Amino acid sequence: MEAKLKELKTRLMEIYDLQMAAAIIIWDQSTYMPSGGAAAHGRQQGLLNRLAQERFIDPAIGKLLDDLLPYAENLPPDSDDARLIQVTRRDYEQAIKVPPEFISEFFAHIAQSYQTWTKARPENDFNSVKPYLEKTLDYSRRYSDYFPGYEHVADPWIDRFDYGMKANQISKMFGELRKELVPLVKQITDQPPPDDSCLFQSYPEDAQLAFGVDIIKDFGYDFDRGRQDKSPHPFTIKFSLGDVRITTRVKENDLREALFSTLHEAGHAMYEQGIDGTYEGTSLGRGTSSGVHESSSRLWENIVGRSKGFWKHYYPKLQETFPEQLKDTSLETFYRAINKVERSLIRTDADEVTYNLHIMIRFDLELAMLEGKLPIEDLPEAWHTRYKADLGIQSPSNVDGVLQDIHWYQGAIGGMFQGYTLGNIISGLFYDAALQDHPQIQSDIESGEFNSLHGWLKENVYAHGRKFTTDELIQSITGKPLTIAPYIKYLRNKFGELYSLS
Ligand code: ZN
Repeated sequence: MEAKLKELKTRLMEIYDLQMAAAIIIWDQSTYMPSGGAAAHGRQQGLLNRLAQERFIDPAIGKLLDDLLPYAENLPPDSDDARLIQVTRRDYEQAIKVPPEFISEFFAHIAQSYQTWTKARPENDFNSVKPYLEKTLDYSRRYSDYFPGYEHVADPWIDRFDYGMKANQISKMFGELRKELVPLVKQITDQPPPDDSCLFQSYPEDAQLAFGVDIIKDFGYDFDRGRQDKSPHPFTIKFSLGDVRITTRVKENDLREALFSTLHEAGHAMYEQGIDGTYEGTSLGRGTSSGVHESSSRLWENIVGRSKGFWKHYYPKLQETFPEQLKDTSLETFYRAINKVERSLIRTDADEVTYNLHIMIRFDLELAMLEGKLPIEDLPEAWHTRYKADLGIQSPSNVDGVLQDIHWYQGAIGGMFQGYTLGNIISGLFYDAALQDHPQIQSDIESGEFNSLHGWLKENVYAHGRKFTTDELIQSITGKPLTIAPYIKYLRNKFGELYSLS
C-alpha cells in the first residue's frame, strides 16, 4: 500500500507541475507579455491544461484510488494520508463524470463569449452577448445534469468552488443577512456622507506601491516566496508553495485602489504560503474553498486594513509619505473616508456594508436563471429591479448593470459569486475566534505587529490546505456551524460607531 500511495503522489506531482507551468504562462500573459505573444501563450496554456486533465482522469489513477480507499479507511480519520486519498477520490469522481468533449466545447464557447463581452460592454450592447449567455446557461445546466441527484441545479457548480455548501442553505443565510443589511444601509445613508476628498488627490505611483509593500511585509507576506507586479486586474497566482505572487493596479488620483487591492491579494497569498510544505503537489496543497480564501483576503483588507487601530499606527507613516496631500487631514477624517458607505452601482468599488447586497443580487439571479424561471432576455430588467429594491438605485444602462462583471461571460452561470459573501461572513467568524484565543491581537495591530493574528490563521486555517472542508474548519475553530452572527456584530459595532447609530 505504501508503494501505491507513493505512486499516487508521484502522479499527482506531475499533474501539479503541468498545472503550475500553465500558471506561469497565465501570469506572463497578464503582466509583461507583448501583445504578439497572445496566440502562442493561449495554445501552450491550453496544451498544458489538457495534458494535466488527461493524466488526472487516467483509469490508472482510478485503480490506485480503488486500491487505496480501504487502506485509507483504516488510517486515523484525520491523518494526512487518509485525507489525501479521500480528497483525491472526490476530485477524481468529479472529473470523470464530465466528458472531455463537453469541457473543450464549453471552453471554446467561453472564449468567444468573453471576446464578445469585451466589445459589448463599452457599447452598452446587451443584444450581442444575449445569444452567448443563453448558450452559457444551457451549458451550465447540462453540466449539472452530469451529477444526477443534486438538490438544486446550482449545487454541482457551488461544489466546485465551495465544496459541501448547498444553494438552499446559502440562500437562507443570505436572506437573513439581507434583512440586516438593507435597514443598516438606510440608517447610514440617511445621514450626511463623510468627506472623502482626501483620497482623490494626486498620489505618485512609486510611493503608493512602496507604502503597500511595507505593510504587507509587516503582515508577514514572504517576499522570498513571492513578488508583486502590476496588472489591469489584481490577482494572486501560485507556481508552487515557494512562489506565490500577487499583482496590483495603481490609480494616481485614488489612494484606495492600489493600497486595498494589495492588502486583499496579500491575504490570498499568505493563505497559500502558509500551507503545510509536505502537501506540495498533492490534492491537499491549496486553499480549501473560495469562501475560506476570500475570508483571508477580506480579513486582511477590511477587518485589519480598514480598522481604526491599524491606522493609528500607519496613518502617521502615510502622512510622512504624502506630506503635501495629507498634512491637513486628521486620522479621524481619513478613517471615515476609507469607510464611507454609499449606495453605488459597481460591486468592486462597494464598501463593506453594501458589498454583500451586490453579491446576493447576482447569486439570486443566477439561481433563477438556472431554475429556468428567468429567461436571459428578462435578465437586464430583473437586474435593475433588484438594484432598486436592495440598494435604492438603478443604472441608466446595462454597462453598469448586467454587463458589469466578467464572471458570466468568462465562465459558467453558477458557483462563482457566493464565495465573496461567504468570505465576509467567515472572516467575521475567524477574527472573532482569533480574538478569543489572543485578546492582544487588537493592541498588537495598533503597534503594527501582526504575528499573533497571522500565527493564529496559519495554525488554524492556512496550514491545513484542503485537508478539512469549509464546514469542518468552521466547526473545529468555533465549535459551531457557520453563522452570520459575529459578522453582523462586527458591522454593527464598527459602522454604528462611525455613523453614531443608536
Ligand atoms: Zn479575493
